[in-house]
Amino acid sequence: MSILENLQAIIGDRAIACDAIEGDRRGGDFMTRGHAPLAVVYPTSTEELSKVMALCNEARQPVVPQGGLTGLSGGATPGSAGMVVVSMDRMRAIEEIDVDAQTITVQAGAVLQTVQEEADAAGMFFPLDLGGRGSAQVGGLISTNAGGNRVLRYGMMRDLVMGIEAVLPDGRIISSLNKMLKNNTGYDLKQLFVGAEGTLGVITRANLKLYPKPASTVTAFCGLPDYAAALAFLRRARSALGGTLSAFEAMWADFYELATQEARRPLEGRYPIYVLLDALGSDPDADAARFELMIASAIEAGEVEDAVIAQSTRETLDFWKIRELPAEFNRVFAPHIPFDVSTPTGSIGAFRDDVDARLKAAFPTLGAIYFGHIADANLHIGIQAAHGEDPAAVKSVVYDTVRDWNGSVSAEHGIGTEKRKYLGFSRSPDELGLMAAIKLALDPNGILNPGKVL
Ligand SMILES: Cc1cc2nc3c(=O)[nH]c(=O)nc-3n(C[C@H](O)[C@H](O)[C@H](O)COP(=O)(O)OP(=O)(O)OC[C@H]3O[C@@H](n4cnc5c(N)ncnc54)[C@H](O)[C@@H]3O)c2cc1C
Repeated sequence: MSILENLQAIIGDRAIACDAIEGDRRGGDFMTRGHAPLAVVYPTSTEELSKVMALCNEARQPVVPQGGLTGLSGGATPGSAGMVVVSMDRMRAIEEIDVDAQTITVQAGAVLQTVQEEADAAGMFFPLDLGGRGSAQVGGLISTNAGGNRVLRYGMMRDLVMGIEAVLPDGRIISSLNKMLKNNTGYDLKQLFVGAEGTLGVITRANLKLYPKPASTVTAFCGLPDYAAALAFLRRARSALGGTLSAFEAMWADFYELATQEARRPLEGRYPIYVLLDALGSDPDADAARFELMIASAIEAGEVEDAVIAQSTRETLDFWKIRELPAEFNRVFAPHIPFDVSTPTGSIGAFRDDVDARLKAAFPTLGAIYFGHIADANLHIGIQAAHGEDPAAVKSVVYDTVRDWNGSVSAEHGIGTEKRKYLGFSRSPDELGLMAAIKLALDPNGILNPGKVL
């Protein structure tokens, strides 16, 4: 029997051969293209997936886990022909919301926006948020340790995962589901799967942390004279807003100009740097007054040259639409090469100037725009290589600069295939050796997501 027939013997018509359309959809993620898979499997339970994995392991059949396919590093892209894709699209259940434990228990295929909405309906708040919210699944978010817009207050996905259930490459089910904040019973196995990009196991369920629902959101869009002012403004906002500061997004001028070609400009003047900031609080009147005072004092100190505070939810969404331009990059900034690097917050301005100078020296016609979650030490670089520039040469310039600054080649999108060559710029040989040993221990036959990360 063929591998497909064997899979169908386990889960019937939820193992399908790929036709041209499905093969095209499943052959790549948001940024990369690979190979159409041999077959796609849609398990509906952990037990079913366990049988699928045991069969594939026995047959030495390579398997690629896929979530919402919004990844930006090639982690979910089949790297060669003949692979089996495991899709979590039929495991989307929201199983439980526990208001006392402040947790939500979900299947790994649950979509981020659904988790946010279900938490909201229960009077709670799931804080992780990013542009791919309408498609990205919990399993994918955990596997890439996704960050997004509210990391400075609530942390990355790693900080929001309390428990995980996963199926190992040989079919064993590891249940580290857990709703207890304090649980010091040996190695924290769930963390092995966070950021592993589907190379150590397929995540099937998770307990995620919830927070009290904020009663107020105050948002401002500001124009600043330089990066030093952005740092001073960040320090001020952190201390003056008493822990309610939830987003602090920097956008350099070229990003703002591109983003406002199709959107309303919140600020008419032109500034070297723009900052979009959000504070989520519990007392609408007091929160708004404190926020306004903080902005006024930043203007007085010369950190901010102009600012507008959103007066409605519509206006808040309009401000955020500018920051969410990257979702449109494939349309308005193609062909596009994305970077998500990090250096410590204090040095991002100088790092950005250095990388920009090196890029312009090497590729005078290249388009480069800069933006990022600077409070999280995360700078995004968007490159438009529209004049035949070699992507590999562009990557070398950026990652060489990251290495010179002792930074990280991936702040939040992961390594996948796109940054594999550069992982050694940010991790030592001993660290890489330990990662390889862990991979070998969990996946001795190398069937799960081969060619990714390591
Ligand atoms: C418009 C846009 C904006 C974005 N903004 C941000 C941002 O601000 N911050 C940020 O961090 N990221 C951002 N991202 C990328 C982000 O990494 C992904 O959105 C998300 O984390 C991946 O989820 P997914 O379900 O789409 O996973 P996929 O793309 O399907 O897969 C991603 C990786 O996870 C693995 N995987 C998927 N499901 C499972 C599972 N159940 N078990 C094991 N492995 C699995 C895959 O094998 C792959 O390696 C953005 C993406 C887009 C398109």
